[in-house]
Amino acid sequence: MLRRIIRPARRLPLWLILTVAGPFIFEVVVHQWHFSVPRPASELDAPFFTSCQEPDVSAKRENAALVMLARNNELEKANRTVTSIEQQFNRWFNYPYVFLNDEQWDPSFIEVLNKTSRGLATFDVVPRAQWTFPEGVDINAAKQNIKEQGERGIPHAGEEGYHHMCRFYSGKFYQLDVLKKYKWYWRLEPDVDFTCAITYDPFVQMARHKKVYGFTIALWEVGKSCPGLYRSIADWKEMMGIPTTSLWKATVSASWMPYPFRRFMSWLPNRDAYGDEWSLCHYWSNFEIADMDFFRTKAYQDLFDYLDKKGGFYFERWGDAAVHSLAIALLADPRKIHHFEDFGYRHALLYQCPANAPGGQLPESEILGSGTWAAEEDNGIGCRCECPGPSPRNFGSYCLNKLKQPTTAKRPRFASFL
Ligand code: GDP
Ligand code: MN
Repeated sequence: MLRRIIRPARRLPLWLILTVAGPFIFEVVVHQWHFSVPRPASELDAPFFTSCQEPDVSAKRENAALVMLARNNELEKANRTVTSIEQQFNRWFNYPYVFLNDEQWDPSFIEVLNKTSRGLATFDVVPRAQWTFPEGVDINAAKQNIKEQGERGIPHAGEEGYHHMCRFYSGKFYQLDVLKKYKWYWRLEPDVDFTCAITYDPFVQMARHKKVYGFTIALWEVGKSCPGLYRSIADWKEMMGIPTTSLWKATVSASWMPYPFRRFMSWLPNRDAYGDEWSLCHYWSNFEIADMDFFRTKAYQDLFDYLDKKGGFYFERWGDAAVHSLAIALLADPRKIHHFEDFGYRHALLYQCPANAPGGQLPESEILGSGTWAAEEDNGIGCRCECPGPSPRNFGSYCLNKLKQPTTAKRPRFASFL
C-alpha cells in the first residue's frame, strides 16, 4: 500500500519538481535577503577608550545619577555593588546615587549605603501608583494568572512584585519626580561587580558621541516569559508606520517557510503577523547607561502605554530588558547604541571581562594608585581588569554579534554560542 503511494512520487520528473518548488525556494531566498543586515564599511561603535586614562577629575560632569532599585533584604548585595563602583569609578567622578524601593527603607539600609556612597545618596520610595496594576486590568484575574505562570516554572513569573518591577522599569521609572532633574542614568543592581577600572566619564563620552543607550551583555530572553511581546511591538510598528532600522532587522530570525505558508506561523509564540520570529536577543538591562530623554519621548511613552494596556506585564511576564531592547531597535538610530566592551561587569553568573591592554595600565599613575591586575594581552582593551572567571571573556555570543551587526565592520572575534 505504502509503495503504491510512494511510487508515483518517485516517477515525478526533476523539471516538474523544480517548476513547482523553484518559486518557493526563490521566494525564501529573497525573504532571507530582505532581512540581511549589511556590515558598515567602518566601525560605527568603537570603544571610547582602549586603555587606562588619567581620570579627568576637574572636567565638567553630565547631568547624571547612579540609580539602584533594591529591597531592604538586599542590603549586603547592594552594598557590594556600591563598594565596587566606588572603587572602580565613582571615587574619581562623584556622581550622586538614587536608591529606590517600593517600601519604606530600613534605617540600617540607609545608614550602611549612605556610608559606602560617601553621603552622595538619596533614598526614595516609588509612589504606589507607579508600582501597581494598570487601570482597566482585572486584578483578581491577573493575580490568579501570576500564580499559574509561577506553577509553569517561568523564571520570577510567580512573584507579583517582579511583574510590578518590570512594568516600572519599562515605563514609569522615567517619570519619577526624583529623577526628573537628571538626563542620564546608570542602572545598578544588587550583586554586581565591576572588574576593571573605569577611568573616564562614560556619561560625557555618551553625550559627546551622541549615544542614547549603552549596554555590556546581550543574550537570549526566556521565550515563554513573553510569547506575545514581539507580536505586540511589531503590530505597533506597522500601525504607526515606523520604518525598519537595521537593528530591527537584526532582532528578527526570518522564517524559512515560504509564503504564504509562513503566515500560519504567526500564531506561534514570539512571531509577528507575517510569521517571522524574534531571535529573543536583547540587552541585559541590569546594566544600562542611557539617556532618559529617549525614554521620555512621546514615541517611547506611547509605545509603553500601548503595551501597558495590553496587560502583558501581568498576563505574561514581559521583562523591561526585552521591552527596552525592542523599543530601541524600533525607535533609535542604531548608531546611537553603545557597547561598553571595555567594561568588566558581573551580575549573577554572567560576566563580561576584557583582557588588559598592552602597555595601557598606567602603573605609575598617582590618582589610580597601585594595585594588581591580570596579565596584558595582545588586542586587550581593558584597564586593570581582574576577571571573576578563569580567563578574560567578552561575552561574545550569538546575540551580541547579531545586535552589533549594524555597527560593526569587522567579523566577530568571539565565537561562543550562548
Ligand atoms: P533578575 O536579575 O531578573 O533575576 O531579578 P532581580 O531579583 O535582580 O530584580 C531586578 C531588580 O529589581 C533588582 O534591582 C531588584 O532589587 C529589584 N526588584 C525586584 N523585585 C522587587 C520588589 O518587589 N521590590 C523592590 N523594591 N525591588 C525589586
Ligand atoms: Mn538581577
